[in-house]
Amino acid sequence: MVCVRKTIKCKIIKPTELKLKHLNKENNNLQELLQLEKFGLDLLPIYRSLKKKVYSANIQQALRFYKKIKLNKEYPISFRKDLLEIRKTNNKLSEYWVKIPTKQRKGGLKLAIKSQPFLFEDYEICESKLFKKKNNWFLNLTVQKEVELNNTYDSVLSLDLGQKYMGVSVMHPSALMTPKFYGKEVRGIRRKYDYIRKQLSKKKVLKEIKNFGQKEQRKVTDCLHNISNRIIEFAQTNNSVIVLGNLKGLRSSVKGKGRKFNRIVSNMPYYQLTQMLEYKANWNGIRVVKVNERGTSHTCCKCSSKGLRPKQGVFNCSVCGLKDFNADINGATNIGNKVSSGYILEDGATLTLPETGAI
Ligand SMILES: [Zn+2]
Repeated sequence: MVCVRKTIKCKIIKPTELKLKHLNKENNNLQELLQLEKFGLDLLPIYRSLKKKVYSANIQQALRFYKKIKLNKEYPISFRKDLLEIRKTNNKLSEYWVKIPTKQRKGGLKLAIKSQPFLFEDYEICESKLFKKKNNWFLNLTVQKEVELNNTYDSVLSLDLGQKYMGVSVMHPSALMTPKFYGKEVRGIRRKYDYIRKQLSKKKVLKEIKNFGQKEQRKVTDCLHNISNRIIEFAQTNNSVIVLGNLKGLRSSVKGKGRKFNRIVSNMPYYQLTQMLEYKANWNGIRVVKVNERGTSHTCCKCSSKGLRPKQGVFNCSVCGLKDFNADINGATNIGNKVSSGYILEDGATLTLPETGAI
């Protein structure tokens, strides 16, 4: 059993004037209180009077989570899980509604939310955070569930993270699926924004740079969701265990390619993708195994000899004659090879590959 957590992003939709007023009050009072707390002014009468104007559990949550309060920084309102209620309704405005605790309204404030569809019976709601961004309110809902991971697998889906593409996946046995390439656009997005940022910094317009950064991050995150969803789908269809490299080898492999290239590649969101893959896989009962990447880019996936990389993206082996082979496919195959038939996965789960087409 593993416990898997994820965050569901919800937007508060069309709150009435009165509800907005309540929300803003709860928020402003809490922010003021935190600033006084920062300066140790909790003995002032104003602190005591503010304290009466914010829901007490909301204050406790904030003091628990925000240890070092920064000057003038706005903090989300964090709700204790047992005080939050989500309902599915037939309401015209929205299917989902949340009830949050505030001092302003007894019994809680009901707000319509827009979110991805979710199944309540499936998981438990945890601490969640409400915050304001450009005059809109959002709720980041943390949910968790206990998952029983599958115990037997009959194929391996391995992924090598690359520079031109975010990743390439290979299936063992290979007859089940041809290698798939993912996320070529990620490097493009990085490069485009890298250029824009440079132009803007010449003009010294810092605010725009920050906005572009957020836009870039959103686009990249969308790509990563798309990539991870596709991989999980392939793994589900073929009952595969997912094998990934442990990321340590990446830094050395980008050495000596020029500063600009390094800046783009070292900013590639490999870690973010790995995290996403892990929780999405586990969420669906699929195991993720991480193996040492050492040697996977220079070993021949057919005969295990040491091969050559005459140029970027190409792999040659003089021993078995493998020539002009895609280096990323070679790498992904080697990563998959580290987990073989009869392999005992954690807590006794096993992998059995069919005789034909074994790795
Ligand atoms: Zn070979």
